[in-house]
Amino acid sequence: RAKKSPNRKVEFFTPEFGDQIHHRHELIRRLKSAIENRHLQLHYQGQFDRLRRCAGYEALLRWHDPVLGPVSPAEFIPLAEETGLIVGIGDWVLEESVATLRQWVDQGFTGRMAINVSALQLHDEGFADRIAHQLAYFGVSADQLELEITETALMADVERAMATLNRFRELGLALAVDDFGTGYSSLAYLKALPVSRIKIDRTFVTGLPENAQDAALCRTIISMAHSMGCDVIAEGVETEDQASWLALAGSDEMQGFLLDRPEPGGFLAGQNDGG
Ligand code: C2E
Ligand code: MG
Ligand code: MG
Ligand code: MG
Repeated sequence: RAKKSPNRKVEFFTPEFGDQIHHRHELIRRLKSAIENRHLQLHYQGQFDRLRRCAGYEALLRWHDPVLGPVSPAEFIPLAEETGLIVGIGDWVLEESVATLRQWVDQGFTGRMAINVSALQLHDEGFADRIAHQLAYFGVSADQLELEITETALMADVERAMATLNRFRELGLALAVDDFGTGYSSLAYLKALPVSRIKIDRTFVTGLPENAQDAALCRTIISMAHSMGCDVIAEGVETEDQASWLALAGSDEMQGFLLDRPEPGGFLAGQNDGG
């Protein structure tokens, strides 16, 4: 997400800023057309326990535009959030991921599917009901669906999100706090919310095991999460050194390029190549 720079006023009068506005409008226009023409896709990245057994998959959005080529979620998700398009996109992600989960369960998958949920979706009163509807429609058990919400989105307006979060709890949905450590959590809220998993942000994993600060932060997050009865998963694990350090430090699960890359096949691809 672009930060406001102190040079903002100066930028406003440069042609580059005009280009930015044009680029933004063009992206929004094309994103709308991608939704209509079903040019969005989900890739699935495995989540592994300490014995490196796959415990679940995270669904990650991919947009390959016929003209622009692949556009990163880091670029289009914030735009979808600002424009409200994320609500429709989120409904599509929900339906697509639950339909996929149904297929996998039929092929013997017993793990979970995790989907990313934006703040706007939490404030949408019908969202929890639509989840319940999709689960019932596809005959999937609620405990196989996990919702990932970033720490920032979760804490932004907890009071307003509380109704939806309580509905999640009633439905038996698991809640994971994504990008943990990059925002500010109220521990009182964290304790009160139906959170079952904490995802250590990738930025703290990158420096492991050499960086003493990162190591201390990871240890602190793991012990805090466990003391609240939450499981821990570390994001962005890229090296064997990171993986073995995290396992020894007590992280319950790991996710990252070392273990699996996001790909369309998910569980079905794993069945074929054995990993
Ligand atoms: P996230 O939920 O924290 O997802 C993790 C991101 O890290 C993904 O980026 C993933 O591809 C990437 N990643 C996984 N393992 C590694 C690794 O070992 N090293 C590195 N360098 N990166 C790794 P991606 O797919 O570009 O998604 C970026 C963000 O966009 C996500 O962060 C999530 O916040 C958002 N996003 C993606 N799909 C959705 C969606 O369906 N709905 C919503 N609301 N947001 C989504
Ligand atoms: Mg996530
Ligand atoms: Mg994350
Ligand atoms: Mg795979």
